[in-house]
Amino acid sequence: MSEKTILVWFRNDLRVHDNEILFEATRKADKVLPVYIFDPFYFKITELGLLKTGNLRAKFLLESVADLRNNLQKLGGDLIVKIGNPAEIIPQLAQQYEVSEVYHHREVAFEETNISEEVEAALWKIKLNLKHFIGHTLYHKEDLPFPIKDIPDSFSIFKKKVERDSQVRPCIETPEQIHTPKIIDAGNIPTLADLGLTEPVEDSRSGFHYEGGESTGLLHLEQYVASQPLIAAKGAKHSDHPSRLSAWISLGCLSMRWVYREVTHGSHNSNSPLVLELLWRDYFRFMFKKHGKQFYSAERFKGIADDLSSNQEELFDKWKTGNTGVPFVDASMRQLNATGYIANDNRQAVAVYLAHELKVDWRMGAAYFEEKLIDYSPASNLGNWAFVAGVEHDPKDTRYFLSPKQISELDSQTQYISTWLPEVFAEQV
Ligand SMILES: Cc1cc2nc3c(=O)[nH]c(=O)nc-3n(C[C@H](O)[C@H](O)[C@H](O)COP(=O)(O)OP(=O)(O)OC[C@H]3O[C@@H](n4cnc5c(N)ncnc54)[C@H](O)[C@@H]3O)c2cc1C
Repeated sequence: MSEKTILVWFRNDLRVHDNEILFEATRKADKVLPVYIFDPFYFKITELGLLKTGNLRAKFLLESVADLRNNLQKLGGDLIVKIGNPAEIIPQLAQQYEVSEVYHHREVAFEETNISEEVEAALWKIKLNLKHFIGHTLYHKEDLPFPIKDIPDSFSIFKKKVERDSQVRPCIETPEQIHTPKIIDAGNIPTLADLGLTEPVEDSRSGFHYEGGESTGLLHLEQYVASQPLIAAKGAKHSDHPSRLSAWISLGCLSMRWVYREVTHGSHNSNSPLVLELLWRDYFRFMFKKHGKQFYSAERFKGIADDLSSNQEELFDKWKTGNTGVPFVDASMRQLNATGYIANDNRQAVAVYLAHELKVDWRMGAAYFEEKLIDYSPASNLGNWAFVAGVEHDPKDTRYFLSPKQISELDSQTQYISTWLPEVFAEQV
């Protein structure tokens, strides 16, 4: 009898731990063919003249793919790496390696689901099935106390019901061994130049070094968990010591369940503030699933669409470069440009300022974040932006978001501002 081979198509799940597609493929097939494709779609310039992926995130991605290959090799496998259109490459590889099925994790944002649909259609032509798995959320869709169409739009109701009626599933085992077919040409991991990007320069003010990959993600998580008792003893707020896990979570170098397990130490009653943050992530992902393309609609959010500034482009430029004249906003934008990361309060501040004070279409801000953020994730980005833009959406939830008054109070954070906007203080001397 001929051997069965399953192609595992990695996308935003760049890990071997808690990875259902990898584990199931090793269980169901004799051979597993792991594949990652750098799709030029994600490296193009958009209509707004912005990159879909800036060099800081691209670097993190390249490191993550290299680490995945390394981890697969340690298990006896390998990773095929290609550049091109997945709808052409996956069927080609499937035929070349006589694959009987293709596994991948289902995405929610429409650009990602469009690509999956194209791959699915191309595979159908050669009579192969693309099997979808759910693996990006903390709570499994099937374990929610409501169908997707009835998910409450209010985060507070969503949270209350999910915490009361749902449980986080245990993590999936890491395969002990992976058998790949004899791979003819595994392909090189591209360089930034191959992707049309320049090498980023690390900013000495950053105070945090990002290196992509499951291995660094697990290490960072371990260090974060170890630091928690001390932080709790000082009575510090979570927002003063955010975890900085987002870049690894967004690319799936860390699974949400794994993070949950490590921070709660297996207790379902943990009151770790990080769990609340993870729940926000799930909420936006499920909202995306529920509302789909409407996420992009400015009109859906009251009062924004018909009240935009006539000189949007000019204001947008000032905002992007950190030249609005509002110190906290400008310092935050400069930190974002230099490092690819700003904390949640800073994101809210710059987003509220763009949408409500400058009255620039929030989707332009979201597109800029897409280029710059090292942790960009479509549902989290668009969800948060839409929320900020339609801030009056649910009065209970707005408590989570900063008001313009709170933003002006942030200008008192002189140490932060002097780091990223030293000229403000130089002028005062
Ligand atoms: C306008 C705007 C755009 C944003 N765009 C993104 C994005 O593209 N990608 C992204 O991962 N987050 C986004 N966020 C959410 C949030 O700011 C970041 O997840 C967080 O700042 C990452 O830092 P951290 O890992 O230290 O977070 P922590 O506070 O330590 O939180 C732990 C994890 O919970 C999740 N999380 C926390 N807050 C949120 C939130 N509000 N929404 C969704 N998930 C959350 C993240 O995965 C994060 O790593 C955005 C927020 C705003 C206001």
